[in-house]
Amino acid sequence: MDGNFNENDISRVVEADRAHIWHHLSQHKPYETTEPRIIVEGKGMRVWDQKGKEHLDAVSGGVWTVNVGYGRESIANAVRDQLIKLNYFAGSAGSIPGSQFAEKLIDKMPGMSRVYYCNSGSEANEKGFKMVRQIAHKRYGGKKHKILYRDRDYHGTTIACLSAGGQDERNAQYGPFTDGFVRVPHCLEYRSFEQDGAPSENYGVWAADQIEKIILAEGPDTVGGLCLEPVTAGGGVIVPPDGYWERVQEICRKYDILLHIDEVVCGVGRTGTWFGYQHYGIQPDMVTMAKGVASGYAAIACLVTTEEVFNMFKDDASDPMNYFRDISTFGGCTAGPTAGLENMNIIENEGLLANTTKMGDYMLDQLAALADRHAVIGDVRGKGLFLGAELVADRDSRDPVAEKMVQAVVGDCMAQGVIIGATNRSLPGKNNTLCFSPALIAKKDDIDQIITAVDGALGRVF
Ligand code: PLP
Repeated sequence: MDGNFNENDISRVVEADRAHIWHHLSQHKPYETTEPRIIVEGKGMRVWDQKGKEHLDAVSGGVWTVNVGYGRESIANAVRDQLIKLNYFAGSAGSIPGSQFAEKLIDKMPGMSRVYYCNSGSEANEKGFKMVRQIAHKRYGGKKHKILYRDRDYHGTTIACLSAGGQDERNAQYGPFTDGFVRVPHCLEYRSFEQDGAPSENYGVWAADQIEKIILAEGPDTVGGLCLEPVTAGGGVIVPPDGYWERVQEICRKYDILLHIDEVVCGVGRTGTWFGYQHYGIQPDMVTMAKGVASGYAAIACLVTTEEVFNMFKDDASDPMNYFRDISTFGGCTAGPTAGLENMNIIENEGLLANTTKMGDYMLDQLAALADRHAVIGDVRGKGLFLGAELVADRDSRDPVAEKMVQAVVGDCMAQGVIIGATNRSLPGKNNTLCFSPALIAKKDDIDQIITAVDGALGRVF
């Protein structure tokens, strides 16, 4: 029992999993009577489980990560070569792939200039929060330290990230949280009828103006940062309404508030542009990214800032505290930037941004056609290959369907060999949205297979 069992001995794999693995986001009781699912292999858009069953992966590795698809030998080879040359060195030293990837990234992010490496989206966001706090101390005597975050957004799993977390199910029972984080309202137009005073026209500008109201109530001299997802992911695939982002930027500039955009899901191609914020013509001060940065071929996350933010940590070298006093042990792994560079090269060389836009538009049309056939679909929305279909018990009241029905749809698709996601676990009863985020290499046939599976599942479950 020393772990060195043959990888083809699947019953031993399952036995060891049952005995020792604590799966993410899972209640384990069912595994006492059912087998945990083990994914054994992947190629392109497809994965195979321990029983040899093929699945079309419509969620890029479960959580919107494997943007360029499975089995990319060029990434594996680049990482292998780099690991043999130099696998790791941390602290203040740089590395060759670190420099190469930073240059490539910045080339795609006009107005940004500095890359800080770490290894998870949560960690990158925490570092952004720390920067806002440190700037508050340096420039404003510690006063401008509050960070605004939005209802239904998610920024990670640590206590500070949950303090900035707008998904109640994720937060429940993990408090007390950290002071200094203030919630602003969501901008999901489909559910704007639940928001007091929401207008039927110009909702985007109104939703952004709610942020200004909160800034004024808190005191603009106390608010240092605003952290938002460009398109909210786990909170229900929320594409911000027209006029929203432009107004948000104006408000940040007006009150000298750093705009931190969390691109952990949208970053590196998911929505058809390199970054989600680039749809809206805005200029962030800080951008965080993780999942698609290296498509899961290596763990890497980045916090990218403007030169102006960077300079706030450099401009007074006589002050021994005036630098970013932060480190990430695995920010020194060279596999991450090596995989990240090749990942971006693939996206560029294979025209995957254009494919994402084209296939995303096609899929949105197909989802809309599904909504014509199934009254349970209340709303479809998305950008690029990042889409959602919100399920409602009744189209007039927009009451959500029961969570177990959503799980039944996901389970039915799984039985058909198509893996889809659902965000209903995030906000029970309010957010029953089926989620789709196939790899950026998706073709029309793949989309059709996903739609056919969902069509069949909805027909059987409702
Ligand atoms: N930000 C967003 C928008 C996310 O969806 C997630 C994870 O799902 C995170 C941050 C946290 O990333 P990680 O799980 O890499 O810590």
